[in-house]
Amino acid sequence: MYSINRKGRSSDPQPPNLGGSLGDLLPDVWYKGKEYNIETNQVEQHIKMKNIVIFGAPGSGKGTQSDKLIEHYGLEHISTGDVLRAEIKKGSELGKTAQQFIDQGQLIPDDLMVSILASVYDGFGRGHKGVIFDGFPRTIPQAEALKAMLAERGDCVAAMLELDVPEDELMKRLILRGQQSGRADDNEETIRKRLVVYHTQTQPLIEWYKQEGLHHHINGLGSLDRIFSDICQVVDNL
Ligand code: AMP
Repeated sequence: MYSINRKGRSSDPQPPNLGGSLGDLLPDVWYKGKEYNIETNQVEQHIKMKNIVIFGAPGSGKGTQSDKLIEHYGLEHISTGDVLRAEIKKGSELGKTAQQFIDQGQLIPDDLMVSILASVYDGFGRGHKGVIFDGFPRTIPQAEALKAMLAERGDCVAAMLELDVPEDELMKRLILRGQQSGRADDNEETIRKRLVVYHTQTQPLIEWYKQEGLHHHINGLGSLDRIFSDICQVVDNL
């Protein structure tokens, strides 16, 4: 009677301690992404953790496509903008600080964002299938901090998906969103500032992720379903 029911996880670099003769059944090569299934007595490919950075200018559709990814792949989601807006609503100290930057269309300082991100990520525990990072990273130091934070936990980013949308379309979408949702930073003056911040501080990340070999270009103009199907083609192959 076997008494072992422990399963390895994609984040688990060690072979399970099966002991005795059962341990001898395992192949010599035991690596991340495989697990031993006690019911079938077989080593199986484990679904890899799909940590995905969804990237693009304000109004490029990151939130909308994140919702579809969550539903389709059962992923977790961190939207740093949503986290900050929730803090503002609560009236917390963090919210008060964040509001000053958001109202000016500026970015919240990197060290603050990085500590928020790490605590939200750890809140998902160790059993998740992957996390969508939506609105983070927005600067090269944030990308470096994300890489280091994940590496400390034995994890990594599997892909960066760049939603590419022309500037005039971004303006149209954001002005419409401001009218519909009443988001305070979706007014024309703040939108222009946010787009300048995007071009100067955030867009350089495209090159950074290309160098990491993780960048995937997605045409963000067209029907939501077509865009999502282009995204799925990438994610299915991770
Ligand atoms: P979003 O909802 O992603 O468009 O974010 C709204 C605002 O929150 C931004 O314009 C920034 O002021 C702030 N913010 C969100 N994410 C970040 C981040 N990763 N780094 C710095 N500021 C951020």
